[in-house]
Amino acid sequence: MEKLDKFDFNDKTILVVEDTETSIRFFDAALKRTNAKTLFAEDGDEAIKLFDENEIDLVLLDLNLFTTSGFDVLRHIRSKDNSTPVIVQTAYILSGEEQISREMGANDFMAKPIKLNSLLQSLNKFLQ
Ligand SMILES: [Mg+2]
Repeated sequence: MEKLDKFDFNDKTILVVEDTETSIRFFDAALKRTNAKTLFAEDGDEAIKLFDENEIDLVLLDLNLFTTSGFDVLRHIRSKDNSTPVIVQTAYILSGEEQISREMGANDFMAKPIKLNSLLQSLNKFLQ
């Protein structure tokens, strides 16, 4: 079994933008290990609303959303502030998506399936 690092983000709020049930369960289980407060949005409009109405410390952003593109959410976030870390994650890597994400201000980019330890280490890097 993979040896897992132990992190405690009990004073942090993470917004998870994700529309796929299995991925939602993965992030929910992963983030519960860290004691972070989590908010879940299943589409871009909900994500933008939650981002605007809460103090968010980090965003985990799926690019492939049903109603909106994750890029629209990223654009909105970066129009508001440059400091909130955004980790983009996607199941279908299209050519150039990582570069576009980073140019638009994403701090990290992860391909699904995401390894739990990789996720935890990326969160730790940006939440410190
Ligand atoms: Mg999706």
